[in-house]
Amino acid sequence: MLLSVVVPCMNEQESIPHLVVRLYETTAVYGKQAEIILVDDGSTDGTWQAIEEARKTCPQLAGLRLSANRGHQVALTAGLEAAKGERIFMLDADLQDPPELLADMMQMMDRGHDVVYGRRIERKGETLFKRVTAYGFYRFLNIMSDIEIPRDTGDFRLVSRRALDAVLAMPERARFIRGMFAWVGFSQIGIEYTRAGREWGETKYPLRKMLRFATDAITAFSTKPLKLATRLSFFSLGFSALMMIYVLHSLIVYQTAPGWASIVLAISIFSGIQLLTLGIMGEYIGRLYIEAKGRPLYYKSEHAEANGAEEAQINEPTPLRKRA
Ligand code: UDP
Ligand code: MG
Repeated sequence: MLLSVVVPCMNEQESIPHLVVRLYETTAVYGKQAEIILVDDGSTDGTWQAIEEARKTCPQLAGLRLSANRGHQVALTAGLEAAKGERIFMLDADLQDPPELLADMMQMMDRGHDVVYGRRIERKGETLFKRVTAYGFYRFLNIMSDIEIPRDTGDFRLVSRRALDAVLAMPERARFIRGMFAWVGFSQIGIEYTRAGREWGETKYPLRKMLRFATDAITAFSTKPLKLATRLSFFSLGFSALMMIYVLHSLIVYQTAPGWASIVLAISIFSGIQLLTLGIMGEYIGRLYIEAKGRPLYYKSEHAEANGAEEAQINEPTPLRKRA
């Protein structure tokens, strides 16, 4: 199998027939070497029926139906796990991302890139609110996270089998897929495009889901928020040192009311100590969090073995964790 197309769908009954036609046309050149996987993410409308209907006319089409709504990123993961292709193309069901870009993406991959992601240079038909929050989000995300996540990208991308396997080897539950692809490394390149408006149905990302998505994104790639307490404690302890000078000075020079000096000092010193202990806990929790994710330490993109060495004498370093 050369190519797998993966599309998560939730309540997209109007889009599916159009989607299948467009995908069928764009993948026709690959014939039986291509498969299209539509994942029904617990839809409550006729999405599954629409998929079944489309399967009658499109032999390359496979359907996957989740038992309940698990969210965009999980539905996409389900499709990616089912994909058998050497290259995997993912896009949204609402055709906001043009499938026709596949040909260009394939060419870029031919030149040796492992990930070709779509960068939106313009978003049509989306509210000012969505555009402003999305713009701010990708910039804030890069300040907060420890890796560089390409700006203004969605999950619209073509990836190689080894990049996909690398992502699937990350067992974490909060899945921010576009960040995970950035994290695994390999050679990545962007392709710019104009994002169309949604033609059928409405967005499945209300504010509530968008906030949840943003929180997942930030916490998945950073423990910076946990380190906030440590930074604040340095601030606070420095401040209490200055306070001490001021309080002693006032006590001696102005003969302040009895009790004032001790209360002020106790408050400032102990709040500093509390923040510091919280910060120390944050450091441990952060490490626990990273360990709990159980991500592979590294992936090999190349392995040039020694030509002259005798095989029996080389001890392969034991990998910390055996992964495919
Ligand atoms: N989606 C999904 N499960 C959800 C929410 C969304 O599978 O819980 C799918 C949806 O059908 C679409 C894609 O994820 O194919 C992106 O959603 P949408 O187009 O509503 O997001 P937007 O483009 O408005 O950001
Ligand atoms: Mg959309």
